[in-house]
Amino acid sequence: MINEKMLSLGQKRSAIRELFEQGKILKEKYGKDNVFDFSIGNPSIPCPAKINDIIRNLLNGSSIELHGYTSAQGDKKVRDAIASYLNKTYDVNTDGDLIYLTSGAAAGLSITLKAITSGSGDDEVIVFAPFFPEYKVFIDNANAKTIAVKPDYKTFYPDLNDFKNKITKNTSAIIINSPNNPTGVYYKKEVLESICKVLEEKQYEFEHPIYIISDEPYRELLYTYTKYDFITNFYKNSIVTYSFSKSLSLPGERIGYILVNPNCESANEVYASVCGAGRSLGYVCANSLFQYMIPECLGLTSDISIYLNNSYTLYEELSKIGYEVVKPDGAFYLFVKALIDDDNEFSKKALDYNLLIVPSESFGISGYVRVASCVTEKQVRDSIPKFKELYKYYM
Ligand code: PLP
Repeated sequence: MINEKMLSLGQKRSAIRELFEQGKILKEKYGKDNVFDFSIGNPSIPCPAKINDIIRNLLNGSSIELHGYTSAQGDKKVRDAIASYLNKTYDVNTDGDLIYLTSGAAAGLSITLKAITSGSGDDEVIVFAPFFPEYKVFIDNANAKTIAVKPDYKTFYPDLNDFKNKITKNTSAIIINSPNNPTGVYYKKEVLESICKVLEEKQYEFEHPIYIISDEPYRELLYTYTKYDFITNFYKNSIVTYSFSKSLSLPGERIGYILVNPNCESANEVYASVCGAGRSLGYVCANSLFQYMIPECLGLTSDISIYLNNSYTLYEELSKIGYEVVKPDGAFYLFVKALIDDDNEFSKKALDYNLLIVPSESFGISGYVRVASCVTEKQVRDSIPKFKELYKYYM
């Protein structure tokens, strides 16, 4: 018998994918330069040339080793290299035995959620709206409930009162994502501290760990802050899921890692549970070729200045037209207030102007759209008159 839940997941495309497909049709009709596709968070700049050199060098080595299975948690030397990078850069004080290599952040999140929830159906995982839509899918797969906390609409940090009220004895974890998809907002030190303070109190009250899962695919894509505030320095029961998809423009290669904070309560058991969850979900080991690439590219990024310029131009130009835009601190997204209450309707109307922008309903709040700035600079410039026409339509 077919699993109805899986059937519906497979048949129903996400709003982002739906727009992406519509974009293809529009591009065929109007030509690709005349369609402004801001729908998908697919890096638009090539990976650093060094990555291809590293891969070419690796291909000169022994094929047996290169393409063979690594240990399930990832090659030991690779894990140790990541540990020493994290220790040096973020003062983590870990070794490779608390690092688990994954097929990107998506796998990292699925594994982590499975590892730290009971599977009974009672666990609750808190997410801060607006949030990456796949969180719901991954939480559901761990047989837990997604509990969304509303944002403070002035800052797009979480509303702390709502956060406090939503934590119950069943709360197992919260997911944070900074810089954020879809707002581009970064949770600076003070924001992290206030979130952690609430959690410390609630852990004490409920007498069990409440984990922070810090989902960090955009860690290096920071514009207004020079130093990333690393969660392990703020909160003991924390687990990081990282991905090289965005920082190195390698989303199709599926490579990332999980770090269990060495100060986590029973850190070794949490890590063992991560290994068990990876095993149970069928992740035998992460892609070996791209594991072996990691030691030589830690800290390296693609030319992310293009995203900064695009985000800056879009922020300035859309604000000038009259749009209300959340000021981005990083990642490659802008969150823009729709000109009518119904964000789906607004996104549909934008298609008449060949603008592909994602309605915020899919991110768990209404009344906004997400504009991905990982496009070419020309696309950004050429789209501005279209945004003007769309604005005029409503004014
Ligand atoms: N988390 C967030 C917030 C994302 O935006 C994405 C991808 O867009 C992911 C996780 C998944 O990334 P990966 O390609 O590493 O699976």
